[in-house]
Amino acid sequence: MNVLAQMNTAKHEQVVFVQDADAGLRAIIAIHNTTLGPALGGTRMYPYATEAQALRDVLDLSRGMTYKAAAAGLDLGGGKAVIIGDPLTQKSDALLRAYGRFVDRLAGMFYTGEDVGTDVRDMEMVRTETRYVGGLSREDGGGGDPSPITAYGVLQGMKACASERWGQDSLEGRTVAVQGLGKVGWHLAELLQEAKATVVGSDVNGDRATHASQVLGIRTVDPDAIYDVDADIFAPCALGGAISANTVPRLKVAVIAGSANNQIASPSAARLLSERGILYAPDYVINAGGLMNVWVELHGYDRARALKLAGNINSNLRTVFAMARELAIPTNEAADRIAEERLAQGARAQSGPSRGEARDRCLPTGTAHSSSQRPA
Ligand code: NAD
Repeated sequence: MNVLAQMNTAKHEQVVFVQDADAGLRAIIAIHNTTLGPALGGTRMYPYATEAQALRDVLDLSRGMTYKAAAAGLDLGGGKAVIIGDPLTQKSDALLRAYGRFVDRLAGMFYTGEDVGTDVRDMEMVRTETRYVGGLSREDGGGGDPSPITAYGVLQGMKACASERWGQDSLEGRTVAVQGLGKVGWHLAELLQEAKATVVGSDVNGDRATHASQVLGIRTVDPDAIYDVDADIFAPCALGGAISANTVPRLKVAVIAGSANNQIASPSAARLLSERGILYAPDYVINAGGLMNVWVELHGYDRARALKLAGNINSNLRTVFAMARELAIPTNEAADRIAEERLAQGARAQSGPSRGEARDRCLPTGTAHSSSQRPA
């Protein structure tokens, strides 16, 4: 697989392969960058067909977390873990506990939480072996399901898009096509209705779509038809890759703003967006609410603080749009530049202390914390 060469491409710091044969655990933990603080990223459990696929996923996702934390102004680095296996048939308490022991061995350089294929209950099992985990239930002092905060952040981001495109924050009277009516998409649809926007939704899970049209009273369309909806905003809230060379020409919207990770499928799709003049809210900037929620949890959960932080997504996006306008570059490139500049600043500030000191400075749970990078 040539792991070191793949690590070198995006300059990953550390990749750890772990297994516990008795518990059936096979996992990869990738730490991309700890310049701004300890790496944080969810644990995905997925039945990868090959180890190479699992490695590719964890490398891409951990790099994305570095950029997300940096652009959000958090004192966190980027990491991610993948457990190779089917969450429906291969997950067990023994597997999760074995995984937790490996997370613990990283001694706070990597913090984790839920992701695709894992949930709050799983993180509570991991927590029995390590304190370096967030995403616990509200009853246990955690931040609980982050998706309402993610949806709130997306709404604030959409307002910044509206201001950039139409000169005012209001979403009243706008039509938003929401792809994916899962945890985030559902909450977002509710918030949009409160903001007096019209929601059209889709979900590959037909029951979910029917439920949404009955409970929320929204119009739903077939999954593939969401790209053709006559709307102002397209909100990808399902899986990655929704914005592709095939789908962009079909879109009738002026803005793309949604929660999905890795929305842009290829560089050619990004170019097409620019050519068509569609305003794109970079995914890792607009969907950072969930990460912010976990960050707050690691410092002692306070929902009001999580909402306030997620509200900053509005100004974070305005900064991205202003840079894109000024330099005449696509918004995703502007976001990357902002994140990379923050990382470069962090590296300059860190040139004094050793890596160990840098890590200790930022440990969140009940330990010392760098106030210089603490968001308001
Ligand atoms: P979820 O699994 O609850 O919901 C996803 C929904 O999308 C499901 O209902 C699924 O049936 C549907 N779906 C899948 N493919 C589809 C398609 N092609 N067309 C229409 N519907 C489709 O997940 P979620 O937690 O709501 O997350 C949604 C997206 O946002 C994911 O990409 C996730 O990585 C990202 N995200 C979520 C959070 C969070 O706080 N939950 C935070 C940041 C990013």
